[in-house]
Amino acid sequence: MTPEALAAIQRVLATIKEASPFYSRKYADLDPRDVKSQADFERLPLTTKDDLRDAYPLGLAAVPASEIVRIHSSSGTTGTPVIIPYTARDVDDWSTQFARCYEMAGITRDDIIQITPGYGLWTAGIGFQLGAEKLGAMAIPMGPGNTDKQLQMMMDLGSTVIGATSSYALLLAETIAERGIKDKIKLRKGVIGSERWGEKMRARIADELGVRLFDIYGLTEIYGPGIGINCDLQPAMHYWDDYLYFEIINPNTGEVLPEGEAGELVITTLKKEGAPLIRYRTHDLTRIVPGECPCGSRYPRIETLIGRSDDMIKVKGINIFPAHIEEALAVTEGASSEYQVMIDHMNGKDIMTVFFETGSPEEHRPYIELALHKAIKDKLSLSVVPKAVDLGDLPRSEKKSKRIFDNRY
Ligand code: ZN
Repeated sequence: MTPEALAAIQRVLATIKEASPFYSRKYADLDPRDVKSQADFERLPLTTKDDLRDAYPLGLAAVPASEIVRIHSSSGTTGTPVIIPYTARDVDDWSTQFARCYEMAGITRDDIIQITPGYGLWTAGIGFQLGAEKLGAMAIPMGPGNTDKQLQMMMDLGSTVIGATSSYALLLAETIAERGIKDKIKLRKGVIGSERWGEKMRARIADELGVRLFDIYGLTEIYGPGIGINCDLQPAMHYWDDYLYFEIINPNTGEVLPEGEAGELVITTLKKEGAPLIRYRTHDLTRIVPGECPCGSRYPRIETLIGRSDDMIKVKGINIFPAHIEEALAVTEGASSEYQVMIDHMNGKDIMTVFFETGSPEEHRPYIELALHKAIKDKLSLSVVPKAVDLGDLPRSEKKSKRIFDNRY
C-alpha cells in the first residue's frame, strides 16, 4: 500500500461511522480512525453481499435522501436485491472512469458507440452511455435484442464501436457472417462486459466482426462497469487506483495475499459518497499483476478474471473449478456436457465422484469412464471416480444448476 493510498483510505475512515448508519453498526465495536497502517486496515472486517442485502432498501445510504440522485440495483439470482444509492458526484465519477476506459481502448469523440447491454436498474447500458457522453462520442442507446434493428442502425449510422456482453457480441458476429454483410459494417472495436469467456469465443467474435476486443470490468456495488479495462498491449486490465483500492485475499481464510498471487478481489471505494464500501468481497478471482505495463500507463493491473470464488472447491489440496470438469468432459469422447460432482470424506481420504451423462451403450461405458479419469488426471493431477449414467438421469433446473456437492463437512 502506497502512502497516498493509506492517506486516501484514512480520509474515508475518518467520517465513515458518522456518515453511514450501515458502517456505524458494522463497526460498532471498533474505531476506524485508529487505522494507522496497512496492517491495521487489513484487520478491518470484510464487507459481504449479505451485509448489503440486510441493508435493503436504502440502509447503505451515507448521505441524506435529498443528496441521492439515482439508485441502481444488482439483480442477484437469489433473495433480496441490493440497492446502491448514487449522489451527483458519484454519477460524475463513474462517467469519468468509464470515459477513461474508452480512452484506454483508443476510442475517441469521433467514434460512434452502439450500446447493446440493458438499461434500467442494471448499471450496464447506462454506464456505457455515461462514458460515451463524457468522452464526447456519439452514443446509440439500443439496449438488448432486436438483432435486425441493431444491424440496420449499425450499417446506416456507421457504428465504429460495439458495447455488448460476450454472448450478444457472438450472436451479432454470427448473424453478420450469415447475412454476408461484413463489408457494410464499420465496427473497429468491441467493449465487452467482463464475464469469464474462453479464448475460443473471443477469437471468433474478433475475427467475424473484424474488431479488436476490450474487456471492461465492474460491478453494481462499485459504480458499475467502467472501473477497469485492458489496454492495447496486454490482456490484463488496468484499474483506477485514484478511485478504488484493490486487495487480493485467500477466499477461505480472508488473509491478504502478497502481490502477484491469485485469490479473491476485495475493493475499497476512495471517493464514493452515496454508498461507500470498505473491503467489499467481489468473489471475483484474479491477481494483481506486478510491475509496469509496457503501454506506459501508470494505472495498476489485475489479470482477466479466472472465475468466481463461490465456485471453487479444494480437494486434496487442489483448487477445482466447474470449468476444469467442463473442459475434461469436452475432450472425452462419448461423454455429454451434463455432470454432477460429489465430494465425500471416507476412511481419512477425500473421494471425488464425477457423474456424467452418456448416450453410449452399457458395454462402452467403462472405456468412457477411463478416458474421463485420464482427462481430469492430466489437467488437475487428481484421481477421481468417474460414473457414467443415462442421458437425462441427472437433475435439471431452470436456474444455473448446482453441479458440485461437497459432503465433507
Ligand atoms: Zn497497459
